[in-house]
Amino acid sequence: MEIAGFLGSVLQAGDEGFQAARQIWNGDIQREPAVIARCTGTADVLAAVRFAREQGLPIAIRGGGHAVAGHAICEGGLVVDLSSMTGVRVNPLMGSVRAQGGCLWRHVDHESQAFGMAVTGGIVTHTGIGGLTLGGGIGHLMRRFGLTVDSLVSCDLITADGEFLTTSIDEHPDLFWGLRGGGGNFGVVTSFNYRLHPLGPTVLAGVLAWPMTEAEAVLRFFRDFVAGAPDEVGIVANLRLALALAIFPEELHGKPVVALIICYTGPIDAGEKVLRSLREFRSPVLDTVGPKAYAAHQAMFDPAYPHGRHYYWKAWRLPPLTDRAIDVIVEQARAITSPLSAIPIFTLGGAVARVDDDATAFTGRSAAHDINFVASWLPDDPEPERHKAWARAAWEAMRPHAQGLYINFMSDEAAPDVKVAYGNRKYARLAALKSKYDPSNVFRFNQNIAPAV
Ligand SMILES: Cc1cc2nc3c(=O)[nH]c(=O)nc-3n(C[C@H](O)[C@H](O)[C@H](O)COP(=O)(O)OP(=O)(O)OC[C@H]3O[C@@H](n4cnc5c(N)ncnc54)[C@H](O)[C@@H]3O)c2cc1C
Repeated sequence: MEIAGFLGSVLQAGDEGFQAARQIWNGDIQREPAVIARCTGTADVLAAVRFAREQGLPIAIRGGGHAVAGHAICEGGLVVDLSSMTGVRVNPLMGSVRAQGGCLWRHVDHESQAFGMAVTGGIVTHTGIGGLTLGGGIGHLMRRFGLTVDSLVSCDLITADGEFLTTSIDEHPDLFWGLRGGGGNFGVVTSFNYRLHPLGPTVLAGVLAWPMTEAEAVLRFFRDFVAGAPDEVGIVANLRLALALAIFPEELHGKPVVALIICYTGPIDAGEKVLRSLREFRSPVLDTVGPKAYAAHQAMFDPAYPHGRHYYWKAWRLPPLTDRAIDVIVEQARAITSPLSAIPIFTLGGAVARVDDDATAFTGRSAAHDINFVASWLPDDPEPERHKAWARAAWEAMRPHAQGLYINFMSDEAAPDVKVAYGNRKYARLAALKSKYDPSNVFRFNQNIAPAV
């Protein structure tokens, strides 16, 4: 098959490389698109979108391929595959970085850190900037520098009509509002332009861990600590069996632990004082917190979430943790069915909460946490349904304590839940925007916003 005006590779079933190209991060998703158009740049994206429209093919957009529900790949349609578009250019004078739409966070971190700067990215560096940014973007730096979208200056994108647009606060501001949290609903973003923030390259970061038997006490202390923590504290709690990774001493491998993953972004001395109480309230079995390259800390979780393993997850946004919510979380941690499953709890607040909720399409800035029940198992595990059932049951148990949904952590929720994630008023605004920029719902492999009638 040929696509007019296309420079990259066009892959179909039977072509060398097709089977590899249809694999995404989640090995549990196996779909066979009619064609994968691996783009080299904006001109290819234009050609691919126009071709798909002419042929009446539905379009999936592949950024980093990390959406757990597999939105990057579709059955029978055309995949606009951005995975070769990973160019990054830092402008040190302007303090900004321009990154192509298929970049992973590791590409952006690598270039930005060479200039001692950073933007809030995801906590796994093989996640794509595309999906993560368009859904809002939470990470270690958010309490200090805001969500990823709070540093977004402009985007170039190809619309459903195959038109090129640049969007920013001044150009197509309605669309720019929707892109900051509305997901991949409005077009293919070929490049993101972010404001950078001075950071590191050394930060005070690492892991503190305690046995799961102490989880209730640790989470209560964590709750009280984050309530008064300065913006410089990035902190994620994680409940799981310790993996057989170098960061865990051998005697902890396979043991249930509750961990706090800390990234303090201010001066190291000040950080040591701020973090002292966490280290002293009871002795951790692991303490790796110390001066560390920010880029290394960003990559810390990478080996825990490898490509090709099978995953399923369910997530909630939470208010500050109550004692009862903590009890439920710990009960669910003790009920984990796979040694690879985990419960990470991100901490929002700080700069995230100071931006007006209506300023961007991202919804739920007042939440204290995002909790994710991540089920994960090996491809030959005989009990995938048992692990998925754990995630669903844990999610249901948490429902009475929840405050909403984050679209980047949604998996197979029904369409009405997308409305719940945004709330009726914002959803109506997004649906009107969808009608304006994608009335035929060409871009539908996402947490879909149906065009307003
Ligand atoms: C291991 C792991 C860790 C994660 N950690 C975090 C985290 O720390 N913080 C956080 O906020 N989220 C996190 N996430 C969730 C993540 O934000 C979403 O999975 C996101 O969708 C991933 O983006 P992607 O480009 O890799 O995925 P893809 O599956 O390629 O894309 C996801 C969606 O975005 C669309 N899309 C992607 N790129 C573009 C583009 N350039 N233009 C238009 N649409 C596009 C796709 O069509 C699809 O609908 C994590 C996910 C994983 C798997």
